[in-house]
Amino acid sequence: MRGEPTQKRNRQYAEQWLEQIRGMQRCAWCGEDEKSLDRKKLCAACVRTKRYAARPREGAEAIPSLPTEHERRERTRESRIAEKMVEICQGDGEQMETILNGDIFDVVDLEQSLNYVAYAVCHRPNFFRGKASELAPTFTVEQRRILAYLLWKPVLVDRKRRRLQMAARFLFLEDLRRAEQEPRG
Ligand SMILES: [Zn+2]
Repeated sequence: MRGEPTQKRNRQYAEQWLEQIRGMQRCAWCGEDEKSLDRKKLCAACVRTKRYAARPREGAEAIPSLPTEHERRERTRESRIAEKMVEICQGDGEQMETILNGDIFDVVDLEQSLNYVAYAVCHRPNFFRGKASELAPTFTVEQRRILAYLLWKPVLVDRKRRRLQMAARFLFLEDLRRAEQEPRG
């Protein structure tokens, strides 16, 4: 009973803090805040990705017959990587939306946030295995969202820096999976 007034005050504080975070201007693609945005509400990194995604497609249309088979393949690959980068940007924005406003924000989501950080720091996604289920009853939904938001911010910076690399890796794995599924013969 003695702890009650403090808990109540903390809860109000978390609710206000979360409202303040929700109200921040954020990039329409990656969801990062505290960045200057252009007229389309994109941060500088997403503007660069958008330009990069537009470039290879324009190039491919301009000279359809000229490139050699190898050049064509390279160009297609570059174009696929660029599209994947856009997908990653927008996916990051969706993750931010889930953290701040998603219908359900539960233990699984918090666990995911911890895994992202562990992966970014030491490449061990299951470093905190099961810890979120211990944290869940300790924090209110608002407090869990704030925690996930704070954990996501440095991860987002890291992901934005590695977008090209991540996109290339995803495509490599997709191609590998496809090749494995193709009938041999
Ligand atoms: Zn952005």
